[in-house]
Amino acid sequence: MILSSPIKVMGMVLSSMKINDYDKRLVILTKENGKLAAFAKGALKPNSQYVAGSQSFAFGEFVLYGGKDSFNITQMSITEYFSELSEDLEAAYMAMYFCEFMTYITNENSDEKEQLKLLYSALKALVKKNISLNLIRYIFEYKALTNLGVAPQCFECTKCGKETVKSYSSINSGMYCLDCAKSEKIDQVLHDSTIYALQFIASTSSEKVFSFTVNEQVEYELKYITKHEVGKNIEQKFKTLEVMQGLSLMK
Ligand SMILES: [Zn+2]
Repeated sequence: MILSSPIKVMGMVLSSMKINDYDKRLVILTKENGKLAAFAKGALKPNSQYVAGSQSFAFGEFVLYGGKDSFNITQMSITEYFSELSEDLEAAYMAMYFCEFMTYITNENSDEKEQLKLLYSALKALVKKNISLNLIRYIFEYKALTNLGVAPQCFECTKCGKETVKSYSSINSGMYCLDCAKSEKIDQVLHDSTIYALQFIASTSSEKVFSFTVNEQVEYELKYITKHEVGKNIEQKFKTLEVMQGLSLMK
C-alpha cells in the first residue's frame, strides 16, 4: 500500500527494532489497517519526540505516510505506555508474549479490531493484578483463538449437539456430553466451572473478559485446553515463552 497523503491510525506497538544508530522499525497493531510496519526516524536520538512511543506496549495515535515498502511515522500521540509493567518482570514478559502472539496471528490490511481490544485489555489486566498472571494468559489465548474462529465450540456437544458439555478431546478439539464421551477419545473430563469459564470467554467482549477468577482445578483445566489448542492452531515456537522458561518465570 502506498499512501498519497498521510493517514492517522490508532494502535499498539507490538515490537520495536533498532535498525541503525538513529532509527527504529516498529510493528504496530492498528484499529484501521491491521498489523503494519513503520519506521520511527530519529527515535534513538536522545531528544527525539519518538523515544517513549517507539517502545513495545505504547498505545495511541500514529500519523503515517507511505513509502514503497513500509510507512514512516511523522507524528505520534501516545495515551498509554503501560510503564507499570517495567516494575514487574513476570508481568512484563507475559505482556511481551501477548505482543509476540498477536504478531503471529494478525495480518496486514485486515480487520484486527477485536484482537487489538483484547491485547489492550490483557495488558490492563496485567497492570491491575486482580487475577493471576496465568489465568490472564489462558483467557487471552482462548479469546484470541475465539476471535480467530478456531477455538473449540463450547456451548454444545461436538457430536450430538446436546447442551450439556462435560469433556474435552485434544485429539479432535471437541467438547462432548457424557454419552458421546464414551465413544470418543476423551482426555479430560471438565469441571462445570471450566465449561462456564470457556463459555464466558467465548461470549463476552474482549474489554470485559478479564473479570473472573477460578480455583486451582479449573485453572489447571483451562491451562490444559489452551495449551493444546494454541499448539494445534499456531505453528510457532514463541521466543518469549522460551525466555520465561529459562528464567523460571513459568509454572
Ligand atoms: Zn453428545
